[in-house]
Order: sequence, then C-alpha cells, then structure tokens
Amino acid sequence: MSHGQRSRFQVLAFYSENTEPDHVDFAKDALKFLSQLAASEQFTLETTSKWDDLNNERLKNCQLVIWLNESPSNAEQRRAFERYMEHGGAWLGFHAAGYNDKDTDWPWFVDFLGGAVFEANSWPPLPAHLIIDDQMHPVTARVPRSFESPANEWYVWNPSPRLNKDVRVLVTLDPSNYPIGLKDVLTSGDLPVVWTNTKYKMLYMNVGHGDKIFTSPIQNQLIDSAINWLGTGATPSEATAANRIRARPNRIRINPNGIALNPETGKFYAVNTTQDIVTVLDCDGQFLRRVLVGKEPESIAINRLTNRIYVANGDSGSVTVIDGETDKAIANVPVGDLPYSIAVNQATNKVYVSRTFSDVTTVIDGQTNIAATLKVGAGDAVAEASLGGSTYLIGYESPQITVLDGTNDHVSKISVSNHLWAIAANPANKKIYAASVGNATVTVIDGKSFASKVVNAGELPCAIAIDSSSATVFVANYGSDSVSIIDGDTDLVVTTVNAGPNPQAIAVDSGNHKVFVANTRTGTVTILDGTNKTVVGSVRTGGAPFAIAVNSKTHKAVTLGLKGDLSVIDGTTFAKSSPSSPQSK
Ligand code: ZN
Repeated sequence: MSHGQRSRFQVLAFYSENTEPDHVDFAKDALKFLSQLAASEQFTLETTSKWDDLNNERLKNCQLVIWLNESPSNAEQRRAFERYMEHGGAWLGFHAAGYNDKDTDWPWFVDFLGGAVFEANSWPPLPAHLIIDDQMHPVTARVPRSFESPANEWYVWNPSPRLNKDVRVLVTLDPSNYPIGLKDVLTSGDLPVVWTNTKYKMLYMNVGHGDKIFTSPIQNQLIDSAINWLGTGATPSEATAANRIRARPNRIRINPNGIALNPETGKFYAVNTTQDIVTVLDCDGQFLRRVLVGKEPESIAINRLTNRIYVANGDSGSVTVIDGETDKAIANVPVGDLPYSIAVNQATNKVYVSRTFSDVTTVIDGQTNIAATLKVGAGDAVAEASLGGSTYLIGYESPQITVLDGTNDHVSKISVSNHLWAIAANPANKKIYAASVGNATVTVIDGKSFASKVVNAGELPCAIAIDSSSATVFVANYGSDSVSIIDGDTDLVVTTVNAGPNPQAIAVDSGNHKVFVANTRTGTVTILDGTNKTVVGSVRTGGAPFAIAVNSKTHKAVTLGLKGDLSVIDGTTFAKSSPSSPQSK
C-alpha cells in the first residue's frame, strides 16, 4: 500500500523460519505474494516470526491473522488466539498451520478446524486437479469450477472436516487424480482441501508445501479472495446442508523396486504389499511360487553373484533373505522402522537399507547376514544404486548424493540439486545419473572423478532407466508426460518423446532396446524403440502399474500394479498376459 492511500484492513502474518525447509520456502514466497497484494488491494500487512506477537495487545487492531507454516505451541499464545477468534477475529491458515496430531494437545484448535485431524499425506509433492465444491461462496465465486494446483503435499484428515455439520467445504481434490504419489500414494476417497468452519471467520487451505505454490494464477485468485473476504469482516457463511459422508481416503506405500529381475537365473521377484508375500516368476513370466516374507514388503534388491534376494519389509522393520536356488526364505534381518530403499553391492557383497524419517543406513553383510548401522545423514532416503565398490544414496530433503564406500564404510557427499527422486548407474561407462523433481534436471556424475554435469529434463523427472549396451539413458518426466533421452557418451539430451499421462516408472530391455514406460494412473504402458527413439506401442495392463522389470533374453517385461497384480508384456509382439495362477501349476 502506498503512502496516502486508505488502508481497508490490517493483516498480521505469522511464519516460522526453523521448520521443515519446504514449509519455509513456501512462507518466503507467501510473504512476497502478500506484500504485493497488500499494495494492490490496499490493506496493511505486518509480518512476524515471533509467535509471542500472538497476544491481546498485538491482535487488538488486527482484522486478519494469517499462519503461513506453523501453529503456536505455547499455552499463552494459544489462549490469546482463542480469545481473538471468539471475539470476532479472522484467520487464514495454510498447510502445516493446520497440522495437528495426538501430540498437539490443543482440543480447541481441532474443534476450530472443524474436527480435522492429520492422518497421512501423499509423497512426494505433486500437482493435482482441484474441484470447487461450492461456487456460491465469496471466496470461490471468481475462480473456474476446477483447476490444476501446483505441486503440493496433500494431507489426509481423519476425522474429515466434511463430517462436521458446521463446516462448508469449498475445494476438494478431484478423484481423477487417483492414484497420486510416487512413494506414499493416495488411491481413492474424499479429500477436502479448502474449508471454513462457519462458527468462526476462518478459512483453512491445505496448499503450502514447497516453492511452486504461487505459480497458478487461478489459485492465487483464490488466496486473494480469501484474504479480502476475511479481512473485510464478512459475516461467517452458513454451512451447506449438502455436507454428506464420503468415502475415506485409501493409501499405499510403493517403491519402483517392488519388482526385480535376477539376470543370472532370469527369474522375476515381485512384492505383494497387502499379502506379505513375494511372487516368483520364471524367465517367461510364468508363475513359480510364492514366498512368505515380512509385513508390507516394498522393495527388492538382488545379488546375482550369490543368488540371494533381499526384501525390505516396511511394516516389520526387517529384511527377508531369499535363496534364489530354492526360492525359500532363509533369514530375517531386523533393520529398524520403515525400511524403504535397498541396494546390493555385488563387489563387496553388502546390502544397504535406508529408512524413511531416518538418517541411518543399515549395512547387511551378505555372507553372514549380520547387520551394522552407518549414520549417513541422507535426508529422507528414497533410492540408491551401486557402482563398483561404492553405493550411492539420495534423499528428497538433501541436495547431495551420499557415497558409501563398501571397503571401509567411509561416507562422503557430492553436491547436486535439491529434491532428488531417482538414481541409476551405468557400470559400462561408470556414470551415475540422479534426477531432481525439484528443478527438472538430471545430474551426471563421473564415478571415478566425481565431476558432475547438469542436464535439463522435463517437469518432475522421477524415474531413470539405462540401456547399458547402447549407453542411452531414458528419464520419465511425470509432469511433462514425456521421456527425455540422454546420450551416455556426450551427456546431451538428444530428444524428448511423448509418453502417456504422468509416467512414473521405466525399464529398458538392453537386448532389443525397447523401453517400457508405466503410466500408472491410466493403467497403460507406453513402449518406445530406444534406437529410433519413437513410440512403437501402447499396452493396457490396468491395475495401476508402478514398477517394471524386463528380461533382456526372453524380452518379457513384467509390471507390478498397486494391488499386487502382475502383467506380462511380450516385448516382441506387445501381447499382454497374466502369469498363470498358482492353482493351475
Ligand atoms: Zn508439507
């Protein structure tokens, strides 16, 4: 607001600088957006990172309080806020500001939010289509009926605010987004995104994670309208009678290494997360047997030299060791809570297991099955790859690749881009490729000198496959519906090929250079010819395929779907079949 203009209302915005980095990034962008809006919409904006400013004196002349990325934990601050709201104050909260769980210990706030309690989230942050539920409300009146919201972490609420008769839900996640997530996947159900508890002048918006939130003019309009509605003291709207109970969200945790091939025996191994088993298929994709493993098996790594299969069990905190000769479980190794990424280093016969929310990697000696721990600080590890005696680990929250030296357990770091999601190594030319979904790039690292180059990919590059026989690298771009093809000698993107919508898994047959790209949401697999770099086929598998393995001798590709279903694709004829059922064998 420029000098001399009349201020329509006063806003006080609270934010925290020492919270989750992506929530701080959002707050910084929000402060810029708010200060521009204050000028154009003629309101006074004050901002503070001191939560002690949440007091009677400071709130007295405030028409609107905004919480950008946190809520107060101090009893006095909470009481001042309760008093402010009970006496006609207005509040706008974003994303983490509404977070509450069993440790929050603030029943008034849960009630204020309409009873909503955080239960889970999608991961990593992805864009999503949102639907305006209620176009009669002043906040939504100026936006289209639906729009694409930029990448955000979507919260699941239990209880859902929809169940509260005083709540008016204004915006909901469009069910057409399901399944959404590359690790924590939401598969169905009702997910309110913006709502107001009509007992107060308040609005909660779930958007607010990361540095992409303000890239949508439509969503910006929604925020603009929310501030104007709340700031001008609009009377609390009435609840819509139409609030009805809708299905609760369902979710599953997945890993693109949920299926793996032993190139030595030609056999496929695939997890079935809900049934706690690993299914073994022969080289043609025909059913061999089922192996009972731990609870919620998520990812598999294979040592082809020792013919051992290692299965990370997310819910039992263990790794099951399967003998690939007999396909029987021979050991169960405890590794700690939530093991997620797993890789074998064949040169050292070590297995590396990293866990969600942990900076510790477990190293299993392949000879003895004895586990030791290494504090590596990888920042929410998501994937790993081995090359020579080293294993390379990436995490979404760290802009570095962690290098674990298998000979002496030395840990070192290579600086790359933030928000890494996929990693792959080519043993033929000793290069490592790491894709950043945060800034749409692939970093190419020389495995000897650790020198690195950055290559531009499409939006949200989330999966990498390498044709080691041609040194060609294929990168699936979730946000651009495409595959970037990188020449492994020059490290240049030679072309970009269209895939289906939101491709999220990829595998390559180095025998005939066919590339299989899973478009999980549509239940299709796009097949590329890696030599001509063109699309040569599309196969409908159904069942939301999210992981693929290929046998380069039989040219059979097997996809793993969200419900554990397997589809076999013949890479020559593109015919699809299902593995014969266990009963028929
Ligand atoms: Zn978040």
